[in-house]
Amino acid sequence: MIKQIWLDCKNCGWSTLYEEPIKNCPSCGDDIIYARYDLDVLRAQNWQSLIQQRKPGLWRYHELLPIKKSANIVTMGEGGTPLIHAENLGRMLGLKYLYIKDERQGPTGSFKDRQASVAISVMKELGIDEAVVASTGNVAIAYSAYAARAGIKLWAFFPDRVPNDKIREVALYGTEVVNVTGTYDQAKTIAANFAKSQGIYYDRGIKSIAAMESMKTIAFEIAEDLGWRAPDWFIQGVSGGMGPIGVIKGFEELRTLGLVDRVPGLGIVQSEGCAPMIEAFNNDWAVAVPVEHPTTVIATLSTGNPGRAYQLLYDMMKQYGGIAESASDEEAFDTTRIMARMDGISVEPATAVAFAGLIKMVQRGKIKSDDIVVFNCSGHTFPVEKAILGEEWARQVDLSNISPTPSVPTKGLLSAVSKVRSPIRQVLVVEDNEDSARLLHRILESHQGYAVTIAHNGVEGLRLARKMKPDLIVSDLMMPEMDGFQLIEALKADTETHDIPIIVLTAKELTPAERQRLAGRIDSMLQKGSFLNDDLLQQIIDTLN
Ligand SMILES: *Cc1c(COP(=O)(O)O)cnc(C)c1O
Ligand SMILES: [Zn+2]
Repeated sequence: MIKQIWLDCKNCGWSTLYEEPIKNCPSCGDDIIYARYDLDVLRAQNWQSLIQQRKPGLWRYHELLPIKKSANIVTMGEGGTPLIHAENLGRMLGLKYLYIKDERQGPTGSFKDRQASVAISVMKELGIDEAVVASTGNVAIAYSAYAARAGIKLWAFFPDRVPNDKIREVALYGTEVVNVTGTYDQAKTIAANFAKSQGIYYDRGIKSIAAMESMKTIAFEIAEDLGWRAPDWFIQGVSGGMGPIGVIKGFEELRTLGLVDRVPGLGIVQSEGCAPMIEAFNNDWAVAVPVEHPTTVIATLSTGNPGRAYQLLYDMMKQYGGIAESASDEEAFDTTRIMARMDGISVEPATAVAFAGLIKMVQRGKIKSDDIVVFNCSGHTFPVEKAILGEEWARQVDLSNISPTPSVPTKGLLSAVSKVRSPIRQVLVVEDNEDSARLLHRILESHQGYAVTIAHNGVEGLRLARKMKPDLIVSDLMMPEMDGFQLIEALKADTETHDIPIIVLTAKELTPAERQRLAGRIDSMLQKGSFLNDDLLQQIIDTLN
């Protein structure tokens, strides 16, 4: 497996044969160095047919990873994560080809598994037995697990706001934990100084060859799963930017190998409380202005000073297409619930920020409905569930003071249950299209406080409206039997249902005559098809208040 790898400086063109990791380009001092492989040889060997015979996982692409002897590989089955078609979320956004690259399914629950496997293998190959990392959580968890397997002693430095559960997991693996009261950028400086003073190897994260190279395997897997093609967009929440830079480098190598015909555009998202790259890109600055005091609570995304990494990203986004969005912490928490309830995907807030950003990219028309979109989905929810669900996420039924106990008194049980039902707004949805009805149901119930009943035509809608007296009716217009216009007229003519607010969903532009029929009778109207969560929900909230 011994192979030749070159190290290149993109900044000045300096190049050398790879023996061991270097910190800076000796010629110009740039601190991001690229690894280069002999792609012509791989092309001649028909590389894709070779890898097809190997088992899934990151190391099936070992020819393009910076390890020389397979005996040094430290692995736990990382990589090979599924590319999941997110049908419900896609329908909600009007995207036909929305895919989730489910990096939660790695050994430690984030795509940092890839980085850890390659970085710890490189350390083993170099004979390093002690190392220092600075981390906002996921890198330290992944490195700790792999370092434990490799018998490497690890020191992890954490900034403020990293969830305690993450730090506890790191300690469990036997890593020495150092909590720094300060920002992530400060924690990195302290960690580097500590390593230097103790003569211990310092892992430079994104700036290390191992990290960037490991992220290429995300691109390889996506291309393979899509039948050797590149998506139109790769979307990720970014902190240091290592993921997207590595993924783009991966697609560039595949293009050189003749396996894909292009490189995807990049959609990057940051949290509003720490968005130096988003600010820079949207102002067309090639250099980002550091955020000295990030205000986001989402530690995973709190790199305030992206340094050179942003410049690389900027170049890539200029070359292949780029979109930059930010979202607030609140939007992230809300989106966490939406992802979980719409498609069964439970993620940490760093990933939810990214999805909230994707929603905005679609709303702004930057991503089209036919585009193939791959969303990097990483990080498990366990450390943050409490913040997302709030206090009242479970119903308590207390039977202890209902006597006699032996046979449970039905009446007591029922009243106990009905008491714990929170005040829920009843929404009646009148919609004949099954898919749309199911989607509305999901969207509404993914937010707390709405109970949804579906009627499949106007007649059923009228009957249910009279029976249940809902707080709100959301109705389609084009339906069999009794259409929406007739339904609304009937509701308004009946004193029992006269005051129930109505939101109309329509698939087409209304004629002036049709508008006239609705005038004064409805509370708002929404275009169907690509209706987005936010719009719909905002209208509903406004109408109910
Ligand atoms: C590390 C991480 C990020 C940020 O990744 P970069 O590519 O280093 O910017 C985003 N989300 C999750 C869940 C992460 O673990
Ligand atoms: Zn240089």
